[in-house]
Amino acid sequence: MREGGELVFVAVGANLDDREATFAAVVRALESESDLLLVGASTVYETDPIGPPGQEAYLNAVLGLRSWLSPIELLHRLQSIEVLLGRDRSGAAERWGPRRIDLDLLFFGERCIDLPELVVPHPRAHERAFVLLPLAELAPSLVHPRMGVTVGELVRVHLDSEAVRPWRRPEGWPGAHSESGPDRVAPDARR
Ligand code: ADP
Ligand code: MG
Repeated sequence: MREGGELVFVAVGANLDDREATFAAVVRALESESDLLLVGASTVYETDPIGPPGQEAYLNAVLGLRSWLSPIELLHRLQSIEVLLGRDRSGAAERWGPRRIDLDLLFFGERCIDLPELVVPHPRAHERAFVLLPLAELAPSLVHPRMGVTVGELVRVHLDSEAVRPWRRPEGWPGAHSESGPDRVAPDARR
């Protein structure tokens, strides 16, 4: 087992085209990275869209990874995977409009990062049920470093279960076997 690295959480969202195929492709792309190790995958949820009206529902989930990349390197890796999977990053795409894939860096250990292109923890993570619910499956005792409360506590405050519904497991999405330990990410991935 490789030493070091940091435990990070990435939100996956998609509301265009074949959402399940996109989710499987995200897992394949992350698994092929030598400086990342996939250590946990939440249930996939279906979520009513926020933002401009008339959009399709999203699939949302959270992945736990051990990262030997720096936060910026990881952000750039996630952005290349978005482009690889057909995300329009031209600037013409509408904010919060439909997207084939959205990969957001939620947490990078317990670090706080305030750079022009990267804010961690993700500034809206703590108020979105479609992030908190899957994240709480993987890491309920993770402390939000700016708020000083655990993900488990946040999910109880912001739970909007009507808008977030468990979906089936897409083919190629990790199953229950990858989830172990008290916080369901592999125990040797925690430190
Ligand atoms: P959103 O996810 O907010 O709907 P985008 O995916 O288009 O919007 O991201 C917009 C910008 O957000 C990116 O260019 C990126 O530099 C910035 N950003 C800041 N913090 C983060 C983060 N924690 N994860 C992902 N992107 C981030
Ligand atoms: Mg994003």
